[in-house]
Amino acid sequence: MQSDCIVVGGGLIGLFCARELARGGLRVLLLERGLLGREASWAGAGVLAALEPRTTPPALQALLRYSQERYADLARDLQAETGIDPEWTRSGLLLVGPDAEARATAWTTTGTEVEALDAECLAGLEPALSIPGPAWRVPAVAQIRNPRLLRALRGALAAARVAVREHCDVRALRHTKGRILGVETVGERIDARTVVIAAGPWSLSLLDGLPHPPVIFPVRGQMLLYRTPPGTLRHIVQHGEVYLVPRRDGTMLVGSTVEHVGFDKTVTGEARAALHAAAGALVPALARQPIAEQWAGLRPGSGTGMPLIAGHPEVRGLYANTGHFRNGVVLAPGSARLLCDLILGRAPIVAPEPFAWPAPQSL
Ligand SMILES: Cc1cc2nc3c(=O)[nH]c(=O)nc-3n(C[C@H](O)[C@H](O)[C@H](O)COP(=O)(O)OP(=O)(O)OC[C@H]3O[C@@H](n4cnc5c(N)ncnc54)[C@H](O)[C@@H]3O)c2cc1C
Repeated sequence: MQSDCIVVGGGLIGLFCARELARGGLRVLLLERGLLGREASWAGAGVLAALEPRTTPPALQALLRYSQERYADLARDLQAETGIDPEWTRSGLLLVGPDAEARATAWTTTGTEVEALDAECLAGLEPALSIPGPAWRVPAVAQIRNPRLLRALRGALAAARVAVREHCDVRALRHTKGRILGVETVGERIDARTVVIAAGPWSLSLLDGLPHPPVIFPVRGQMLLYRTPPGTLRHIVQHGEVYLVPRRDGTMLVGSTVEHVGFDKTVTGEARAALHAAAGALVPALARQPIAEQWAGLRPGSGTGMPLIAGHPEVRGLYANTGHFRNGVVLAPGSARLLCDLILGRAPIVAPEPFAWPAPQSL
């Protein structure tokens, strides 16, 4: 079947884009080099907020808010459609430790409600935490279980009649006279008038030969997983660079490192020891707990510090949705919607200029 649009990359960004484009009436083909949702979109912690408000560009706030306001309904719709519960949960975020007050102040400047908690209140809320108060709570922060979200989205794509091909490595883009023609995979040419590059940190390899290649690069993040009794923690807890994310069944994630090591997903003993020590210092029970899993994922960093959600300035029909760095899970619904607005000629949900294709001199 002829497709109107090819989406390259089956992470959260590509999956949300494919779903949104199909809902907009296009015949969509999604091409994934490996299996759907096995890279950063699986590896992430699923916190539905930018955990570093002090360094989050203000221009990102409108898109963050758009996504955050829709996630609860989205999770409910996906569950109704597919029977898979992505476990959207408003856990709230607790800020503890020496820089907690400064972080809390940064949250308030984004217009988010923050509550100050004294030591007694903190101990009552989270008895497993060993760190003394004061602390600050950001009640609006929610989380989602991203591996389950990915499975639910996959089911939703089948219902939306999106064609999906796994183990399909896109090797090059085909274009002529400033117009996209389609893509070239191993041994095959596939035509489409619209191509969306949502290939995470690998996006640059497809855009490299064109004018205005954006700066997109991998940033490794390592995480640990523990299995604890449900309710060990109720909030997401952040202490300096380390955060703990408790799932409903007691699974506890501890993250994460930020490492510039190229396309290397190896896990290291150094990160394991550092994250384990930090986790045990916050929740003493974790110091005695075996580490159930350790993994690494590659975040798509971007030279501008902003995701690229835009059409190519010189190749009509070619679009990119990438470079979401530490915020790709939370931003995925809004990013997909914004890109589809641009492709379908609808009024954009937020001003698109901050996400435009960067001119070379601005990099
Ligand atoms: C440890 C860690 C913790 C994180 N925590 C959070 C968090 O709490 N909250 C949050 O919002 N974000 C978080 N993130 C960031 C978030 O996970 C990413 O920003 C997001 O997943 C990026 O999604 P993506 O679809 O662009 O990329 P990916 O998930 O990497 O998907 C890209 C896909 O494209 C495919 N692909 C690449 N090249 C080709 C090709 N040539 N042909 C076909 N397919 C191709 C890949 O195989 C891959 O499946 C975290 C990331 C990590 C690593």
